[in-house]
Amino acid sequence: MATKAETSAVRVAPFIESGEAFRRLGGIESPAARERYDVVVIGGGQAGLSVGYYLRKRGLRFVILDASERVGDSWRKRWDSLRLFSPAKLDGLVGMKFPAPPNYFPTKDEMGDYLEAYAAKFELPIRSGTRVDRLFQRDGAFVVKAGEVEIEAKQVVIAMSNYQSHRLPAFARELRSDIVQMHSCDYRNPSQLRDGSVLIVGVGNSGAEIAKELSRTHQIWMSGRSTGETPFRPDSFVGRAVLVRLLMRGVFHHVLSVKTPMGRKARPKMLHMAAPLIRVKGKDLAAAGVKQVARVTGVRDGLPVLEDGQALDVGNVIWCTGFHPAFSWIELPVFDDRGDADHDAGVVTGVPGLYFVGLHFLYAMSSGMIHGVGRDAKRIVDAIAARAPSGALRAVAR
Ligand SMILES: Cc1cc2nc3c(=O)[nH]c(=O)nc-3n(C[C@H](O)[C@H](O)[C@H](O)COP(=O)(O)OP(=O)(O)OC[C@H]3O[C@@H](n4cnc5c(N)ncnc54)[C@H](O)[C@@H]3O)c2cc1C
Repeated sequence: MATKAETSAVRVAPFIESGEAFRRLGGIESPAARERYDVVVIGGGQAGLSVGYYLRKRGLRFVILDASERVGDSWRKRWDSLRLFSPAKLDGLVGMKFPAPPNYFPTKDEMGDYLEAYAAKFELPIRSGTRVDRLFQRDGAFVVKAGEVEIEAKQVVIAMSNYQSHRLPAFARELRSDIVQMHSCDYRNPSQLRDGSVLIVGVGNSGAEIAKELSRTHQIWMSGRSTGETPFRPDSFVGRAVLVRLLMRGVFHHVLSVKTPMGRKARPKMLHMAAPLIRVKGKDLAAAGVKQVARVTGVRDGLPVLEDGQALDVGNVIWCTGFHPAFSWIELPVFDDRGDADHDAGVVTGVPGLYFVGLHFLYAMSSGMIHGVGRDAKRIVDAIAARAPSGALRAVAR
């Protein structure tokens, strides 16, 4: 949470994009020549807004480009009944508390609206509905292209979570056409499904929560193995009073970071592992009548087949098989052999001036969570400021 000094240091100066200024002056249409910023931030979710907050404090000229129509849409588009697993006391970004009692668990729409209010409060320069489709370098500057829009920047922050695109096994397309199938990112509520049983593939938090919801109306089969459970319920008395804070602020924020031997050891595994079950646990699923089955390995005669050879005659399949960041638009040498972004706690050492914020375990386990992203944003903006020519820095003080 921001200190009073941090909050009051934010002063919002009137923001005019260079492109706009030229248009107002009747400048010649030449997008590449007009649009130049010290920093372009790609992504306007919690990561991009946190970076924007600190860039504003430094007085750097920047713009945030976001593909969504409205700030907060990545939360609004999640399933209807979703509530955050983190309580409101851990759901505020720097400079603005989440407006709810500390132990309240916000709905996903309340979180989306909070982010929208945050962007408005700090007058962050966001261009919504702008999907970046190319990022490359030309003559020593970064070039960011979004359709016809072309912007040059001295430095670029890619500010987003790993959840930009879904993972599906290739055999999903062989399922019978009368089976309703969707990825968890397209699931909204039970009305999307047909009669008959449901196979949920993947036992992460999304899979467990969707399985529990659908168990009221459908027979559920759940395939895969969970990666463990937190040893308490976040909404229990002890969970609220002590354990949530201990786990999230203590373990996820401080113990499991690139600065500790334990964090460095855990990181490679955690980058590709589903988080432990937090709210809905194995015994809740068993009590709801959810049947655990082996892994799905393929499709036979249009039906999903399990590792043990059994074919399941189901009416619906929900793939809770995870996500990936979909970085094919980045035309820069920033990926390692596995295709992961190669960076040092968010700083891309191989491409000076390029940064990531929001990715899994960027710096700590908390980096991909609301309460952890602000620390990363501040550190990255400090690095940006250190590279910026001194004339570009106009620290804004009230
Ligand atoms: C189901 C679910 C529940 C979660 N619950 C919690 C919770 O309770 N507590 C918690 O702390 N964390 C939670 N998380 C984790 C994390 O807080 C969220 O995923 C959060 O949305 C991440 O914010 P972000 O800004 O990093 O990325 P995103 O929310 O993914 O935002 C990225 C933005 O970038 C935009 N974008 C992507 N590509 C481009 C492009 N090429 N050009 C322009 N814009 C682009 C997107 O449109 C999006 O608006 C949850 C995650 C999931 C999936």
